Amino acid sequence: MNDESRAPLFAPVRSLPGVTAERERQLERLGLVRASDLLFFFPRAYRPRPRFTRIADLEFDVEQTTYGRLIDFRTSNFRRGAAATAVFEDDAGDRLRTVWFNMPSWMFRQFQPDRRALITAKPGKDKRGRLQVSHPALVWLDDDDDLPFEGDGAVSTPALEAPPEDDTLFPIYPLTEGLRQHQIHRLMKEVLETLPDLVDDVFPAEYRAAHNLLPIAEALRKIHLPKNEDEAALARRRFIYQEFLLLQLALAIRRQQHEINLKAPIIRPSEDILLRLRRLVPYELTGAQVRVIREIADDMARPVPMNRLLQGDVGSGKTIVAAAAILQAVAAGYQAVIMAPTEILARQHYRFLTRLLEHSPIEIVPLLGGQKAKTRQEILEKIECGAASVVVGTQAIICADVHFRKLGLVVIDEQHKFGVRQRARLKTGTGADPHYLVMTATPIPRSMTMTVFGDLDISILDQLPPGRQPIRTRVVTKEKKDEWWTDFRREIEKGRQGYVVVPRVDETDEGLKDVESVCNELSAGPLKGLRLGIIHGRMTPEEKDAVMADFRSREIEVLIATSVIEVGIDVPNATIMSIENANMFGLAQLHQLRGRIGRGKHPGCCGVFLGDETEEAPPGQETLPFSPSAAKTRVASEERLKIFAGSTDGFFLAEKDFEMRGPGDLFGTEQHGISRFHIADILRDRKILAEARADAALLVRSDPGLADDRHRRLREQVLRRYGRALNLGDVG
Ligand code: ADP
Ligand code: MG
Repeated sequence: MNDESRAPLFAPVRSLPGVTAERERQLERLGLVRASDLLFFFPRAYRPRPRFTRIADLEFDVEQTTYGRLIDFRTSNFRRGAAATAVFEDDAGDRLRTVWFNMPSWMFRQFQPDRRALITAKPGKDKRGRLQVSHPALVWLDDDDDLPFEGDGAVSTPALEAPPEDDTLFPIYPLTEGLRQHQIHRLMKEVLETLPDLVDDVFPAEYRAAHNLLPIAEALRKIHLPKNEDEAALARRRFIYQEFLLLQLALAIRRQQHEINLKAPIIRPSEDILLRLRRLVPYELTGAQVRVIREIADDMARPVPMNRLLQGDVGSGKTIVAAAAILQAVAAGYQAVIMAPTEILARQHYRFLTRLLEHSPIEIVPLLGGQKAKTRQEILEKIECGAASVVVGTQAIICADVHFRKLGLVVIDEQHKFGVRQRARLKTGTGADPHYLVMTATPIPRSMTMTVFGDLDISILDQLPPGRQPIRTRVVTKEKKDEWWTDFRREIEKGRQGYVVVPRVDETDEGLKDVESVCNELSAGPLKGLRLGIIHGRMTPEEKDAVMADFRSREIEVLIATSVIEVGIDVPNATIMSIENANMFGLAQLHQLRGRIGRGKHPGCCGVFLGDETEEAPPGQETLPFSPSAAKTRVASEERLKIFAGSTDGFFLAEKDFEMRGPGDLFGTEQHGISRFHIADILRDRKILAEARADAALLVRSDPGLADDRHRRLREQVLRRYGRALNLGDVG
């Protein structure tokens, strides 16, 4: 189709009949600027089409909608409040009495003489047996609104009252102030008339036939005016599929481009390494660990950069898997880095690797905050000349300005805010890209690994090391508080250690306890005489490190902490955890926190407190991604905590979290610009998502770069939508 004949699609909404400057502004608030925007502005629901009954035809005791013009309105004050009576008359001259008891005074103002309204109610009878409706629902009509009845009762508003042969459902659109359903309906009717036929179909006819997709014009008409829900679903399917397919094509093309353009060193595995590893650790590797170590080893042996996500529940033993990959790189003469999100975790990794490799010549260096300039300089030099084989640090520091001599592998631990675009630019020294291994204990629902993280290969550690102790979780109510602290104390007195997690560092918002006040309270009360320590995000790395060292050595028995302990901390003797205001955390985060206990040979116990003073999350608190907004959150919070107490399956909890809160920014998805779908919903439509993913893989395999003329439109749309976000460059 040539551009000229398609011009009406791009006409401003203002050019449509009946669109005033004010209406134009309302439409703009909904993002509707051009006529074609209306076409793609889909209903949020459908209802049976309203039918209007003339006043004379109203039946007793059946809910109906009628229409009339206000001809009389009076109120009378009784002791119990104002009663109001209004009389409406329709064009045939029939009248309807409507009454209200206790009508709020703000409603009075709407009763203007001659004003027209739609009246919906179930008529009753007054004392004299005449039909009368009480408390009807009114929709006031504006002067420019179409009337359901006019003249001698003829139907004149197809948008409101459909002719009898119109058996479509009544679409309900999202609205904005001042704009009403029937007004949008009128516009839709206008654009649906001819515009759908001007829209190019991205899918060739054979493709549509093979994949059960409606042609675009038909899909557009049916999504706005379906005859039934099935027809609506079929129309929706086309758009959902298209949306998913475009993303999947973009991801597939990107993967293909990477295979061609990106080079990484070939780092071959040797069986030797598994043997060495087995000698280094006092336990047997789990089957899952062995499998995942292989998957990673095979990736690293390819000349294309590995881009692998390792998911494993808390305590599943990801660190040793990372160590295996690091050994493989170092054995082949390459350097490896492992980055952690926090200093505490980075120090823990440094300690672990140093101990693991203490009898080998491999040099491991830490790159951490607070190092003296001279120390840091020495370390940087060692990295640059290649003397240091393994670098451990936080992301912030390593990404800054480190020159490697021969970097082959990057391991990123406990990362969930990553995704397609985020790869650190590191100076690898090899002229090639390094292999990437990203590890997370936050289980990512499958529908997200297929979209937001769609360009990653996934490995899953689905097996915990043997002998893991169960963790019991209790929701601690006010009445059970004393009992809980008695149990807590008893556990510490048995020689175990514990955590008390508090979701806030300072007192700025009332109600939420901060770490110090909780510490004071506990040391004066239920935990009197025990050695308590404090850790929170505002402490310097050295301070935190000192506290962690004291905790590890049992100098501190109970650690009162903010969620800084959330990730990675491994102190096996800690077995009991108390989480204050647990409703402030999301399920996945609670699961992470709880993962700090039950790591040794003793069973764990976790008590979650439903915050009693405050129900609202403080806005913008970074460590508290869950910010309940509605007042009914309390019930929901309790429900969530019960779900949490009832399961220790991280994947299950993540799916629940996802269902209850949506993807939100839990995985840092907002920043990618690829997680926003117009109509698709990755949870609800996951079947179509899987289908589109498989189809995209086939399509790209058969027609790399979508160069075939039949796929030209698809390619254009992929580029328009994802070209920048995924840096697809010049495809084809
Ligand atoms: P995460 O996956 O949470 O990072 P870690 O790597 O910290 O888990 O491992 C948790 C604990 O389990 C550590 O103390 C580690 O030594 C231990 N561990 C790891 N693998 C095994 C195994 N196969 N058998 C027994 N213990 C293991
Ligand atoms: Mg870990």
